[in-house]
Amino acid sequence: MPHFCRTSLFMFVVAFIVAACHSDGFPNGSEQTMTGDELMPVEVHDDTSRVIDIDTTGRSAFVDVSAVAQGVIVEMRYCDTFNFVGTRIDGYIDPVALLTARAADSIKAVCDDLASQGLTLKIYDAYRPQRAVDHFVRWSKNYADTAMKGCFYPNEDKHMLFANDYISSHSAHSRGSTVDVTIVDNRGQELDMGGHFDLMDASSHPSCGGNPATGQYRPNDTISKKQFENRMLLRAVMSRHGFRPLYTEWWHFTLRNEPYRERRFDFHVARL
Ligand SMILES: [Zn+2]
Repeated sequence: MPHFCRTSLFMFVVAFIVAACHSDGFPNGSEQTMTGDELMPVEVHDDTSRVIDIDTTGRSAFVDVSAVAQGVIVEMRYCDTFNFVGTRIDGYIDPVALLTARAADSIKAVCDDLASQGLTLKIYDAYRPQRAVDHFVRWSKNYADTAMKGCFYPNEDKHMLFANDYISSHSAHSRGSTVDVTIVDNRGQELDMGGHFDLMDASSHPSCGGNPATGQYRPNDTISKKQFENRMLLRAVMSRHGFRPLYTEWWHFTLRNEPYRERRFDFHVARL
């Protein structure tokens, strides 16, 4: 076969494989799960319709939040063993909070807002690689491992964690504009939220203890008025700077105008 024919055939095969990968399992080929195996840099449209070039993994579109947001405290729980699994989670190499540049800018605005009140923000998790989510799913199906039940799911049967949406096969965190946070006072103490990060329990719902839409407390035996007000303080400051809350977790927020709505990233959480 002449050389140019072999070259043409090779290019055709490569184009076919790339097209097949991008349409696999997703409507319109719009959703992409990056695995690090893809060969070509990817062109991505963000929601301002600019075309931006990011590297194969997407890592170059991310920033270290600590370098952007003055005073932010970072305590990456999945890079350590004090989490609901009880081990360091796959994909977490360094305890750094990585976010898209747009989300990091909004976190800076949150920190500046809190600083004016003598407070600051603590981040428990930010960008989360897909391989970490896969680790959670594997763990959830190992029913014998309940080492951290007492602290993180005392009232839930582990068999039900997946069915009850506490564990999911995909996470907004993998899109790079979602954070798990709380507020810290000027002595370094976390405000009392009436339950801690990743407590898989109905008491973690923002609606537990009142109406989050109105901020109206409803007297109950689970969440005190002060605890409810602290949750609402966090919710209000995050909302002011563009974040949307979640109905099941008081600590979880996603940037409303997140730049990569249809992409999940999978590069390691490591120093940039
Ligand atoms: Zn979260």
